[in-house]
Amino acid sequence: MAEPSPLLELRQISAHYDRIPALRSLDLTLDKGATGCLIGANGAGKTTALSTIAGTHALTSGEIHFAGERIDTLSADRRVSRGIALIPEGRGIFARLTVDENLRLGAYSRSDRGAIAADREHVFTLLPRLHDRLHQVAGTLSGGEQQMLAIGRALLSKPTLLLLDEPSMGLAPLIVERIYALIRTIAAEGIGILLVEQNAHLALEVADQAWVMESGRITLNGAAAELRKDPRVRSAYLGG
Ligand code: ATP
Repeated sequence: MAEPSPLLELRQISAHYDRIPALRSLDLTLDKGATGCLIGANGAGKTTALSTIAGTHALTSGEIHFAGERIDTLSADRRVSRGIALIPEGRGIFARLTVDENLRLGAYSRSDRGAIAADREHVFTLLPRLHDRLHQVAGTLSGGEQQMLAIGRALLSKPTLLLLDEPSMGLAPLIVERIYALIRTIAAEGIGILLVEQNAHLALEVADQAWVMESGRITLNGAAAELRKDPRVRSAYLGG
């Protein structure tokens, strides 16, 4: 039988800030519907990797393929239309707009009104708190609610790949648990996820596939369950 085509393929991608390399010939293949995580120390290049996939940071070389199409030549907007949604570190919500307005912006690339309304209802089923807070200004929500809004807004672009940068950042443990339960639910619905996490415990628990990054390179990769047992991962990222 033929191999199933991957959802996302990074082929030898490199990226720079001015002349300083941030990604060095990175290869990564995320399977369809899988959850993957990138782990690594501060400055390893994880955020940059997500930005190059979303199209908010340019490649210097290499190719990105998504759902069988080369996308590194497409604008960030076009990539959203293709099904890629990035939730950046810090969440990227519009603090002065209401929850409702933020959610509406999530669907800006779509014109299928009926389907948008159904997806909105689905988001409220997953995140009833957003419905309760619909007319509240987003900047006044708690950190956890803002992260949920960012996820809800991203879901309204109808993604097949969700890029999540540090979703646990700055949140209390109980809230982090809720966010991760939500990530699991979204993954179970068949949406591919690529997650960046400082908290390697969490990331490796939720992920199917994992990559360890150091200085812009992948130094280890494999099934998340295997990497959790790897002594190099344990000593560097899981506290021994
Ligand atoms: P962190 O968890 O701290 O965000 P990271 O693994 O996501 O780390 P990146 O933010 O992708 O790493 O950074 C990769 C490299 O690029 C680092 O050396 C960083 O200093 C550099 N870098 C990141 N953003 C910029 C920027 N806007 N201008 C210049 N250099 C940058």
